[in-house]
Amino acid sequence: MSFINSAQDYEEMKKLASLVRVMNSFGHNPATSGNYSLRSKTSPEIALVSESGIDKSKFTEDNFLPLYYKTRQMLDDYKNSGRKSSDETDIHLTIYQITNANCVLHSHILDSLLFADLFYGKPYATIEGLELLKGFKGIKTHELKINIPCFENTQDIALLAEQIKPAILAQENNYGLLLRGHGVYVWGDSVEEAKRHLEVFEYIFKYYLNSRRGY
Ligand SMILES: [Zn+2]
Repeated sequence: MSFINSAQDYEEMKKLASLVRVMNSFGHNPATSGNYSLRSKTSPEIALVSESGIDKSKFTEDNFLPLYYKTRQMLDDYKNSGRKSSDETDIHLTIYQITNANCVLHSHILDSLLFADLFYGKPYATIEGLELLKGFKGIKTHELKINIPCFENTQDIALLAEQIKPAILAQENNYGLLLRGHGVYVWGDSVEEAKRHLEVFEYIFKYYLNSRRGY
């Protein structure tokens, strides 16, 4: 496949696969959980999404599968391969449809579940006042509120993919969403930016879990 052989995409897949292995070592992917993707640089209508059921300690650049993000179809050459992209592929493809993201990370890190529980029953986890919020693209001050959308977990991923759209579009400068009892999605313009945003989220989780504030 020409796009797979494109040096640019190959380098990005290698970079993301390496990040996946590092994230795995820090507890983001217990029991093969979590999923990851890129928007192809050379074929912008294609998303490269992680394969289902792979032990993330062994994840490589060969574990991405190409899908057209508008039709949700895998490229013809891959359709009969018996390989399957993540069960949560629809969430990734929706984020590419409605944002300018080029990389999406989905982690099951325990702190993201505990943090979401602090905002039980609320549609957003509202965060404010931390200097590290400036780690998010476009944010220049700690003096603002960010509403991280929170959703109930479900196995109906197609429905969830529809539900997340208005919440993502409602706010600029938010680069993540929480699924209760499940995990966190984070995105950015590049692998590097998505990683930086994830680091900000992890810091926020720890801060709110360890501070004694009421929410
Ligand atoms: Zn998940």
